[in-house]
Amino acid sequence: MNLYDLVILQYNQIFDLYKIDEDIKEYLTFPKNEIMVNYPIRLDNGSVKMLKAYRVQHNNVLGPFKGGIRFSQDIYLDEVKSLAFWMTIKCSLQNIPFGGAKGGIKINPYEYSISELERISKGYSEVMYKYIGENRDIPAPDLGTNSQIMDWMTDAYQKKGRTHNCSVFTGKSIHCGGSKGREEATGFGVVECIKLWARKKNIDLCGKTYIVQGFGNVGSNTAILLSQLGMICIGVADHTRCIKSEEGFNVYKLQQHCKEYKNIEKYPYGENINKEDFFSLKCYVIIPAAKELVIVGEEDGNKLNCELVVEAANGPIDTEAETIILNKGIEIIPDILANSGGVVVSYYEWLQNKRCEYWTKKEVLEKLESRMEDTFNLVYEKSKIEKISMRNACYILSIQKIAEKIKRRKLF
Ligand code: NAD
Repeated sequence: MNLYDLVILQYNQIFDLYKIDEDIKEYLTFPKNEIMVNYPIRLDNGSVKMLKAYRVQHNNVLGPFKGGIRFSQDIYLDEVKSLAFWMTIKCSLQNIPFGGAKGGIKINPYEYSISELERISKGYSEVMYKYIGENRDIPAPDLGTNSQIMDWMTDAYQKKGRTHNCSVFTGKSIHCGGSKGREEATGFGVVECIKLWARKKNIDLCGKTYIVQGFGNVGSNTAILLSQLGMICIGVADHTRCIKSEEGFNVYKLQQHCKEYKNIEKYPYGENINKEDFFSLKCYVIIPAAKELVIVGEEDGNKLNCELVVEAANGPIDTEAETIILNKGIEIIPDILANSGGVVVSYYEWLQNKRCEYWTKKEVLEKLESRMEDTFNLVYEKSKIEKISMRNACYILSIQKIAEKIKRRKLF
C-alpha cells in the first residue's frame, strides 16, 4: 500500500462524519511544496555518489513548517508527503504554532562511516538552505537520524548563512543548543498516553506486559519509562530480528546494547520468534515504534492479542487492520497524539533558542506532561461522547482549528 493512500483514507473518513467545507478538504489534500534534489557527496574511498533528498512542506497556515528528516533506503515521495501531512495535523492538535513538513535522504545510514554521514548531513542542509529557516521551516530528527546529525546540519546552515542562529533545527545536542528532555520526549509522550488511558480505565499498569517493535530513540525511551512503572517488556523486534522473553527483558541493558551495536541482532538474551508471529504475542500493550504499515490488512488485524495498541511510530496500522482491531474491542492511541511529545519539546527548544533561555529538564518535562494530559483528555472525551475512534477525534479537533483560521483570514 502506498502510504499516501492511507492518509487519504483516514482523512476522507472525517468528511464522511462531519460537515466540513469541501474547499478545506481539497486544500489540505495537497502539500504546498514538494522539493526533490539530487546532490553529490564524496565517499571515503574517493568516489562521488549522488544522493536523493526530499523536503515536503505540507501546510503553514498555523505557523512555519515543522517536521523531521529521516535517513532511509526505502523512502519515497508519497511517504514524505504523508508524514508531512500528519505533522500539520499533529501540530494543530497540540496547539503548537507550526505547520507540517517532513524530509529525508534515500540512504541506509548504517552503511556509511561517521565522516560520510557528516558530509551527507551538511550537504542536505546546504541544498535545502533556501527552503528552511527558523521562521520558514524547522527540521528535526526522525527515523535514522539523531542529535549529532542535527548538530552537523546546524553547522552547515550557520556557515552558509553567516549566522549564529541555531533555532532552524531542533533535536540538537545540549552542547549545540538542544533542549534538555528532547532526547526522551517522544517516548515520554507515548508513556504519558498509556498512563492517562490506564487512569481513565482504572487500571494498574504495574506487572502488565508489552511488546515493542523498534528499539531506537522512541522505542527504547518508551521501554525505559514503562519499566519505571513496573511494566514488563516480553517482546522486542527490529529490522534484524524478533525476540521474546517470558520473564521480561532488562530494557536498560537492551538500550545500552542498541546504542553500541545499532540493533538487537547479537543481543544474547531472549528467544527468537518469526517476524510474522511477533504481533500475535499475547500481552497487554503493543507498541509499534519503528516504521509505517507494519500491521496491515485483515490477517494482521486479527492476529493482535492485547488490550491497547499505542502508535509510537507514524502510520503503523492501515485502515483495514484498524477496523478489525477496534471491532475486537482493542483500543488504539493514534500516532498523531501518541508520538506528539517529540514535536512539543521541539517547539520548546525553538522557543528557548529564540529567547536565549535554558530550561531545566524538570521544567521541560512538566510542561510536556501537562500538555499531553490536556490534549489526551480532549481527544478521549470527544471519542467517548461522539462514539468515534480516538484517531477520528484527533483529526476533527485538529482540522476544525485549521479550518477556522483559514475562514477568518479568508485565505481563498
Ligand atoms: P530510530 O532510527 O532511532 O529507530 C528506529 C528503530 O526501528 C530501530 O530500532 C530500527 O532497527 C527499527 N526498524 C527500522 N526498520 C525496521 C523494520 N523494517 N522492521 C522492524 N524494525 C525496524 O528512529 P526513531 O526516531 O525511534 O523513530 C521511530 C518511529 O517514530 C518512526 O516512525 C518515526 O517517524 C516516529 N517518530 C519519531 C520521533 C522522534 O522524535 N524521533 C517523533 C515522532 C515520531
